[in-house]
Amino acid sequence: MNQDQITIIGGGLSGLIAAYLLAKNGKEVLLIEKKSYPFHRVCGEYISNEVRGFLIKENLFPSSFEPAEINTFRLTAVNGALAEIPLDLGGFGISRYNLDHYLYQKCEKIGVKFLLKTQVATIDYNPKKKAFDLSTNHGEKLVSPIVLAAYGKRSKIDKYLHRPYLKQRSPYIGIKHHIKIAESENIVALHNYEGGYLGINQVEHGHFNLCYLGSRAQLKAAGNIPAMEEQHLFKNPHIKAIYESAEFLWDKPEVINEISFATKSPVENQVIMIGDAAGMITPLCGNGMAIAIHTGKLAAEAILRHKKLKAIQEDYTKAWNYYFSRRLRNGRAVQRLFGAPFVSKLAVNVLKNSPFLAKKLILQTHGTPIK
Ligand SMILES: Cc1cc2nc3c(=O)[nH]c(=O)nc-3n(C[C@H](O)[C@H](O)[C@H](O)COP(=O)(O)OP(=O)(O)OC[C@H]3O[C@@H](n4cnc5c(N)ncnc54)[C@H](O)[C@@H]3O)c2cc1C
Repeated sequence: MNQDQITIIGGGLSGLIAAYLLAKNGKEVLLIEKKSYPFHRVCGEYISNEVRGFLIKENLFPSSFEPAEINTFRLTAVNGALAEIPLDLGGFGISRYNLDHYLYQKCEKIGVKFLLKTQVATIDYNPKKKAFDLSTNHGEKLVSPIVLAAYGKRSKIDKYLHRPYLKQRSPYIGIKHHIKIAESENIVALHNYEGGYLGINQVEHGHFNLCYLGSRAQLKAAGNIPAMEEQHLFKNPHIKAIYESAEFLWDKPEVINEISFATKSPVENQVIMIGDAAGMITPLCGNGMAIAIHTGKLAAEAILRHKKLKAIQEDYTKAWNYYFSRRLRNGRAVQRLFGAPFVSKLAVNVLKNSPFLAKKLILQTHGTPIK
């Protein structure tokens, strides 16, 4: 095994982008991914246009799938009040099933090595070797001078690393369906209900993503997902109408729990954290994927700029704090406006009556196009 090989743990957007850029610039890269492509994951699948130019420049924009073009934001309150504003930057809709698979193929072509269906189980920095010792659930042992943790919002390995955020339990669950429905291609809608919010937007092939951030307590009390949806989500008439008119394309939705927006750090236990592993923005901002792509790019650039691990860590930490620490904080603040009757109504009123203020609010969580 090449001792200079960079190891990336996790093949979501942050890991795939970092792997691609590093391999493109002559580095040997091994990416270890728990699953095998293609696969579905819980995500709203609305990608902010802040990464469009970068993806096009790198020939990574998935145009062959004809992603939906999204330029309007619709918000409804718990009681059904509705407002719409045009989005300055907008975004596009594409399933993670196809997008991640597409990027995986691009990475393979450029020389990234993959260990699929494999989980990294332990990771330890050895200062004498100036390298990381890693082991996988299949018993492989690896040594790598640089490791990027791109394993998403929560992974078993966080326990091994004793990451502080694990002390707080999260009350949120995430549920995703793909549906067919007669809705406008250009709208990303966010429908509030008491206890959560549901997003809907078109992806490729005329299908729609319906994804919501819900409450673990409500699911537990209702006993199952359909009962919870009927008891809580359907109180918003728009959500009820969507469920009544849509054709659901899967037998069962994708489900995840323990979605934490707790503060994390871009470097922990000497490991460089990218994407959600460094901190997750609340999904209602529709920015997690763009941030994951951007962090993957920043980490790759730091590695390409410096030789020493410490210099790489400092460069990346500085960039991460500059671009994201305020955005993630603002995302947590905006999240408090949603999922409650009064404040969600207020948010709709702001959107309706003060579009200027609403745009300012949106800007607080959105970035500018990355280069
Ligand atoms: C309900 C919900 C809705 C969302 N909607 C949107 C949206 O509309 N727009 C948007 O931009 N963002 C959205 N997001 C956020 C977005 O999905 C994430 O920010 C983004 O996927 C993060 O990418 P990542 O690369 O950090 O991690 P991920 O894409 O989660 O990838 C991590 C990968 O690591 C692998 N892995 C984990 N542990 C290990 C291990 N030990 N060894 C090997 N592999 C491992 C996993 O299998 C996974 O493939 C949403 C999130 C949620 C929860």
